[in-house]
Amino acid sequence: MTMTDLASGASSVERVRDVARIRDVLNRQREAQLAHLDALTREHAAAGTSGQAQLRGLTAGLRQTVAQIDTALMQLEAGRYGICLSCSEPIAPPRLEALPAAVLCLRCQRLKERR
Ligand SMILES: [Zn+2]
Repeated sequence: MTMTDLASGASSVERVRDVARIRDVLNRQREAQLAHLDALTREHAAAGTSGQAQLRGLTAGLRQTVAQIDTALMQLEAGRYGICLSCSEPIAPPRLEALPAAVLCLRCQRLKERR
């Protein structure tokens, strides 16, 4: 399942409001990230000190992504999926299609990244 599948068929707004589908997409992404994390950990386990340092850099981003997916799932269960955590404005449907785990609107995300 890709993000292209998510955007195909019914209108994007209907898709975005489909809780079961979103939950499925998020869970799959979460599993994929965890599998990747697991594979990287095993790959670098025997690589010594330099491998460990490299591993930390690689896994930090993955862990952050998993945490973000968890937050999006919590928002989904709370009926607040697609609502920006920072400003409580709706997140634009195209942004959710491209990034189903988005918990911040584009404006707040940019502000956060600038910090
Ligand atoms: Zn916002």
